[in-house]
Amino acid sequence: MAGAKVTVGNVEIVSLLDTPMEFPWAAFFPNNRQQDFDPYKDRYPGSYAGDGKFRTYAHCYALRSDGKTVLVDTGIGPGMGGRLLEEMNSKGVPPDSVDIVIFTHLHPDHVGWNRTADNAPTFSNARYWIPQGDWDFFTKPEVVSQNPHIGAAVLPLKEDGLIDLFSGEKAITPELTTYPTPGHTPGHTSIMVSSAGERAIITGDLAHHPAQVDHTEWRPGVDSDPAQAVETRSKVFDQLEADGLLTVFCHFPDPGFGKLVRLEGKRVWQAL
Ligand SMILES: [Zn+2]
Repeated sequence: MAGAKVTVGNVEIVSLLDTPMEFPWAAFFPNNRQQDFDPYKDRYPGSYAGDGKFRTYAHCYALRSDGKTVLVDTGIGPGMGGRLLEEMNSKGVPPDSVDIVIFTHLHPDHVGWNRTADNAPTFSNARYWIPQGDWDFFTKPEVVSQNPHIGAAVLPLKEDGLIDLFSGEKAITPELTTYPTPGHTPGHTSIMVSSAGERAIITGDLAHHPAQVDHTEWRPGVDSDPAQAVETRSKVFDQLEADGLLTVFCHFPDPGFGKLVRLEGKRVWQAL
């Protein structure tokens, strides 16, 4: 297994595991039978739990690029057993060293550590980059009322004047660029890393279980636009396989670094 850090050209990517999580198959993948996933169990044992549940992970990633520290997502947070801050301190990325927090999207397991218990910004020196499409969707009053994490963890950043909205392909640093991958949420965004002739991508929630790299049509019930999510996943994974890019998945077994490769006619996730 790869260590917690990889380098891509001059960029360092540090994997930060907030917590493993378990969900019932039937609730998370309502259009599949649990047995659909059985053939992949030997290849991906870290993505299976017992008792009718599968195991997934809430990862965040710190990127060091061009003198800046960029944190991708903030995990599920302290109330759900997250340990992101310990991870950051033990892996040499103290929270106050973060210059930019960028969200792949605004689901609760990606914004959990935004605020301290005193309702201050956890990452005290950071600006917070939010995809415009997700901001527009998740701040609708009827959506806020159904998603208490928005009021708790996202709207206070607005009151503090810390939010920068972005859309399309936007440079975060000269080596890091946002890459729209909509469908899971309206503004769902991946992060492209390109440095000294090497490339990688952090894919957010393009997949929650590694079997989805083969079956891109398998989708979780939480996708906001299921057809668009399947189309995006299929198109992006075809490209990543063709290009052989280092691909980082927030929800795959720790540390989440790997490649999409073809073995015996199936596309598989090959962890580093
Ligand atoms: Zn999500």
